[in-house]
Amino acid sequence: MMLEVTDVAVYYGKIAALKNVTLSVDEGEIVALIGANGAGKTTTLKTISGLRPLAAGSVVFEGKDISRMPGHKRVRVGIGQAPEGRGVFPGMTVQENLLMGAYTRKGSFTAELNEVYELFPRLAERRTQSGGTMSGGEQQMVAIGRALMAKPRVLLLDEPSMGLAPILVQQIFSIIKEINNRGTTVLLVEQNAQQALQLADRAYVLETGRVVKGAVASDLLDDPAVRAAYLGGDLDVEGAAEVAEQS
Ligand code: ATP
Repeated sequence: MMLEVTDVAVYYGKIAALKNVTLSVDEGEIVALIGANGAGKTTTLKTISGLRPLAAGSVVFEGKDISRMPGHKRVRVGIGQAPEGRGVFPGMTVQENLLMGAYTRKGSFTAELNEVYELFPRLAERRTQSGGTMSGGEQQMVAIGRALMAKPRVLLLDEPSMGLAPILVQQIFSIIKEINNRGTTVLLVEQNAQQALQLADRAYVLETGRVVKGAVASDLLDDPAVRAAYLGGDLDVEGAAEVAEQS
């Protein structure tokens, strides 16, 4: 396995946000992490990228224990994260924002920029526009593009569909698929469980800081308990998609 998270516990003060999280991601996969608000999805990603210290357990990346490695070094070894809420620098242009993502590496970044612009033609058109004036969906693209500039081996995505109109949700999901096709492994946190399970190879369900299920994504789509809790409880896929869109 490329990434192995084992028995991880994480606290905010005295409160355990993660109690016992075990999951793994194999090279080339898209793995989704689904669960209700507050289940610990964001915290799991932050623990992998080094933004939250773990109180117990381990994170192993490509055979190396990185549990105590600082976040900026994890970027260097190949762990990239596009954060929830995007974090686009409003006073910088789109291109300057993208270049910030390459700060851990030396050289000129023409090839990387071109690849991002190829994935997101909208960003190419708007490369001189300031980040703060980009729409929500465009800022999401900037955040993903910025993470790609560091050439991650695994890309951690926190709710890439959050706040997007349905047509943009489709677009973002197909771009994630394309990023994966080009060789980047993806670990994806999503509220939009229907779409995430359709995209992913495997998925985990997180409930109050614990992984309660892990399976092939299409099996979870058919799982009655998962359907009831996260997909509107309906075996009619269209109906469930509508519920997922509204939630
Ligand atoms: P959402 O989908 O709502 O973003 P999530 O599954 O990503 O939820 P987390 O953000 O990981 O959940 O939060 C897990 C738990 O940790 C929640 O109970 C949350 O209130 C708590 N928590 C998160 N950040 C902090 C913080 N900075 N201080 C205290 N508690 C926190």
